[in-house]
Amino acid sequence: MNESRESHHDYIIVGGGLQAGLLALALNYHQPSAKVLLIEKCEQLFGNHTWSFHATDVPAAARGWLASVSTKKWRAYAVKFPGFEKRINLGYETFSSAALAEAINAVAESGNLEIITGKTVRELSPTSIETDCGFSVEAKVVLDCRGAEKISNQQVGFQKFYGMEVELADRDWPDSLPTIMDATVAQTDGFRFFYVLPLTRRRVLVEDTFFSNTPSHDHQSSAADIEKYLFDRNLRNWTVLREESGCLPMPFGASLKPSGEFPLRGGFRGGWFHAATGYSFPLASRFADSVASVPSSETSTVIASLAKQNQFQTNFSRFLNRLLFQLVTPEKRFLIFQRFYRSLNEQTIRRFYSHEFTKFDAARLLIGSPPQGLTPIKFFKSFKEKPCPALQS
Ligand SMILES: Cc1cc2nc3c(=O)[nH]c(=O)nc-3n(C[C@H](O)[C@H](O)[C@H](O)COP(=O)(O)OP(=O)(O)OC[C@H]3O[C@@H](n4cnc5c(N)ncnc54)[C@H](O)[C@@H]3O)c2cc1C
Repeated sequence: MNESRESHHDYIIVGGGLQAGLLALALNYHQPSAKVLLIEKCEQLFGNHTWSFHATDVPAAARGWLASVSTKKWRAYAVKFPGFEKRINLGYETFSSAALAEAINAVAESGNLEIITGKTVRELSPTSIETDCGFSVEAKVVLDCRGAEKISNQQVGFQKFYGMEVELADRDWPDSLPTIMDATVAQTDGFRFFYVLPLTRRRVLVEDTFFSNTPSHDHQSSAADIEKYLFDRNLRNWTVLREESGCLPMPFGASLKPSGEFPLRGGFRGGWFHAATGYSFPLASRFADSVASVPSSETSTVIASLAKQNQFQTNFSRFLNRLLFQLVTPEKRFLIFQRFYRSLNEQTIRRFYSHEFTKFDAARLLIGSPPQGLTPIKFFKSFKEKPCPALQS
């Protein structure tokens, strides 16, 4: 059945993921009278995620609108490598899909945000969208936030992970701080580390993560290794509360770079993610705050300007991915990260994660790395575009 209607929307946000949620919050904060439509193909917004970020990734202006999302905060975190551990004194924060949904529903109840779920957008133009069932809407600005698309002919590595959130029955988790990289585990399938978030003393998220050349991942095997990880810490009884998994492309080719061209794209689809870390939050929050801070007539200009500001960091992150995935043999990759944490100071680490690193930081990152296992011929060959088989099916 075809339906259509007149519209008085200022913004249409297509997709109901991380970027869309941040945008809707920022628009509500900076332009409370703007009429916003958010349209998502699934019945539920925001999927099943635990989204983390460094506290210093949040632009100061964004703290105002992010305050409505309930986050868990730590003042520091740890990293662990064979024979080397370090506490990093940078704040770390996390929030769940449910916390973001709660904040967004509160905005929707209070007025100018309309949410439609269960409708797939089939066509979009700079000022209109049409869904599978013929429902069409117009607005001053359409922002395409539909997440990762199938990328062919793209040069990518993969960050793939499987995690379990567990409730411990009879013992506390031994550490109050997160360990965002525990690379003391077997280095199979590329750089591998466990990611541990103690959400409460008894509730812990443990993720088995790989920076790998292939997207395939045996979740059952990761689940068994996570159980062993718990067991090795003298934990015997727990209940699995939820699981989460993902496979994020880590590009080292030219596509998916941010730009202000139409159709305007936010989030992963627009390249607003840190290619070398896989974190979306730093750029997605900046994108949301920038777009919301200007009138709709200036949206494309402000996006183009933000893309330009991030150009060096975008290109350099991809260059690092090329080094990592093409130049360093998989079993030696952990040495890159070990060296990163061993030799860089906290301010450089902060700037790296927040995508604000300088050319000097970049030089500092490269001096002496990659450390071992170089295959320079392979590296130079890697610049020849070749299809990524994993993403072609
Ligand atoms: C399990 C997991 C954990 C992660 N942890 C972190 C983390 O800790 N920190 C961090 O910064 N990043 C993290 N990431 C990465 C981050 O979640 C993604 O990069 C981010 O979600 C991208 O945001 P997005 O809004 O562009 O896309 P998505 O969040 O993927 O949202 C896109 C949305 O668009 C919808 N959609 C697609 N097509 C259509 C259509 N045609 N019509 C309507 N709707 C459509 C999808 O259903 C989806 O809801 C994680 C990823 C995963 C998978």
